[in-house]
Order: sequence, then structure tokens, then C-alpha cells
Amino acid sequence: MAPASKSELSTIAERLQAIKSSLPEGVTLVAVSKFHPVEALLEAYAAGQRHFGESRAQELEAKDVAMPPDVVWHFIGHLQRNKVRHVVRIASIIESVDSLELLRLIDREAVRVGRRIDVLLELHVAEEETKSGMSLAECDALINSIAREPLSNVAVRGLMGMATFTDDEKRVRADFNTLRMAFDRLKASAFAKEPSFDTLSMGMSDDYGIAVECGSTAVRIGTAIFGDRNY
Ligand SMILES: *Cc1c(COP(=O)(O)O)cnc(C)c1O
Repeated sequence: MAPASKSELSTIAERLQAIKSSLPEGVTLVAVSKFHPVEALLEAYAAGQRHFGESRAQELEAKDVAMPPDVVWHFIGHLQRNKVRHVVRIASIIESVDSLELLRLIDREAVRVGRRIDVLLELHVAEEETKSGMSLAECDALINSIAREPLSNVAVRGLMGMATFTDDEKRVRADFNTLRMAFDRLKASAFAKEPSFDTLSMGMSDDYGIAVECGSTAVRIGTAIFGDRNY
């Protein structure tokens, strides 16, 4: 990544273009627009961006109303049970599934509203305690459960994860490689007969270059497109 070029580029469209041209073909760019105003999303939309990532149900609902209908919403935040109903109506993919209970609830709501929805299983590989996601063992247990009792309206499309927040590139690379190996293992075993298990979502503004080298198929980039968030 080249932080220098980031600051030279002043518009959202320019920054989007620079990031897109640095990504290999086949890697999806999800523009993480949480905490940014609709005007910023519209600017990205006008530049051709269609995949947007949001992390809060209420914000997703408000932005969905304001944005054109062909936006593809990725829900990437912690999802509370009482918000599942709202998110399932809007999101195309929920990337942050971190329990069997949540997965079953998403499936029930999807059946109820007659929608099909994609999900990713979120794995915890980073050093920080605070980062969300399942351990590999929890993930395997979840997968065993859905093999015994399949989901109706939900397709498990792959894995999502975050690397440790550190300047130590070796550590970041090790985290992404752990995710990649988990993805490859599942693709060759539990999901061997499901070609739609094809998504490995990893890489953010500061580390997406490394993530792509480690096999990411989808990067979630906020700050490098929209600038700093005002919480
Ligand atoms: C906020 C967020 C991002 C984007 O982070 P940036 O550093 O702004 O690119 C990516 N993934 C998840 C899960 C996030 O919550």
C-alpha cells in the first residue's frame, strides 16, 4: 500500500479508482461506508461502486431508503438478535455470523420474509481479545450442525476475518494465512460439493495489499475511500 498516494488523491472517485486498479481481477471491493453521510455514498455510487458495507442495522435501514435500489449491501458489524429481522430484509450478505444461534435466526427470518440471503462465517484469528468471531473449533461445530440440519434460505458463501491491529507485517500475514488455510480446508471438505463457497473476505484500508497476496477474494475498505470516520 502507498499511503502517500492516498493523500494526493482528493476525491472519493479518485481514491476508489486507485484502489480498484490495484486489485487483481476477481477481488470484490466492498466500500465500508459506516458513519459516513449518504452524500459520500452517492459520490461512490456515481463513480460506479455498488457493494457497500454497513455495521449498524439502523444506519443500514436509513441508507437503504436513500440509495438507489441496485446497491448490494454487506452487513459487517456485530448483529444483535433483535436486529436480525431488519437486516435480513435489506442485506444481500451478512459477513459477521459468529454463532449457530445467529445463523439459525437469520435463516428463520429469511424464510419468514421469503428472501434468500448469503452469509460468511466470521473467524477470530487476531491477537486482540476484543475482536469478534468464532474459533476454528466453534466454526467446525457450526458446520457440523448445518450438515445434520440444513439451512433453508441461507447460503454459506465463505469466511470473513480481521488481522491483528499492528504494524508487524509478519503478524498480519500470519493471521491472513490462518484464514486462508481454514478457507481452503473447508472448501476441500465440508463444502467440497458447493461451488458457491467461494468468498474469503479479508483486508481493510491498512492491510488489504497483504490480504490480497494471501488469497482474499473480497476487501472491506472504508477509511482509504471515505476518509476518517466521525464517531
Ligand atoms: C470498519 C470496518 C472495516 C473498514 O475499516 P477501514 O480501516 O476504515 O478500511 C472493515 N471491516 C470491518 C468488519 C469493519 O468493521
